Amino acid sequence: MNDHEFAGYLAECAGEELLKLRASASTERLNPWYLRDQGDILSHKLLIEQIREHRPEDHVLSEEGADDKSRVDADRVWIIDPLDGSQDYPYPESAEWAVHIALVESGRIKAGAVACPSLGRYHVTGLKGSIGSRKNEAPLIVSNRWNTYQASSIAETIGAELTCCGSAGVKTSLVLSGDADIYIHGSGLYEWDACGPVAVSRDAGLVAFQLDGSEFEFNKQTPVVRGLVISRPEYSDLVRKALSY
Ligand SMILES: [Mg+2]
Repeated sequence: MNDHEFAGYLAECAGEELLKLRASASTERLNPWYLRDQGDILSHKLLIEQIREHRPEDHVLSEEGADDKSRVDADRVWIIDPLDGSQDYPYPESAEWAVHIALVESGRIKAGAVACPSLGRYHVTGLKGSIGSRKNEAPLIVSNRWNTYQASSIAETIGAELTCCGSAGVKTSLVLSGDADIYIHGSGLYEWDACGPVAVSRDAGLVAFQLDGSEFEFNKQTPVVRGLVISRPEYSDLVRKALSY
């Protein structure tokens, strides 16, 4: 398996196990908070085991793992969110959760994958993916639920509709499929939230940058990201202009 295939394999394996866990839990009526934590742990452990087995030299930065910072000077680092949208994951009616995988070398993305198992969507780099046709008359911006100030401001400036949902991976998938045109995330993002989504977006031909217009740098000492824009190429200049208020 090359790195792209391995990223896809990781996302798919974790996604399948998370689906199984949720299906078994719904009959056992587990407490949602307990199930959320179980999902985080199950997926994290599975991903760490697979990376140790197949890429023993590589380092890992996981939302669910301790960060001893040894990764900062490492050549190859897997940046993973074992379960993105964990607050939605316990509820069988919600599809708004994902698995994010990315491989970073010298601060730049080399490969990645995003699985949205409840939607049956699996995005992976290295396949020369493409973007789905646009589905809406007016441009549609998808944003997160709690911080839509920037998204509202951009929507107003460019005359777009605004919607929201959980999980960065699912929002990214909506832009990849053409269901939405632009994904705006204000702030409060860690590298594991953004890295997999940026990897698969760019590979398919979408444009991605931080909310201040700058390029991402991954595997930093403090692994935070200054907001996230993922856009169809035809809207990226409009968004950049709207952001320079
Ligand atoms: Mg998570």
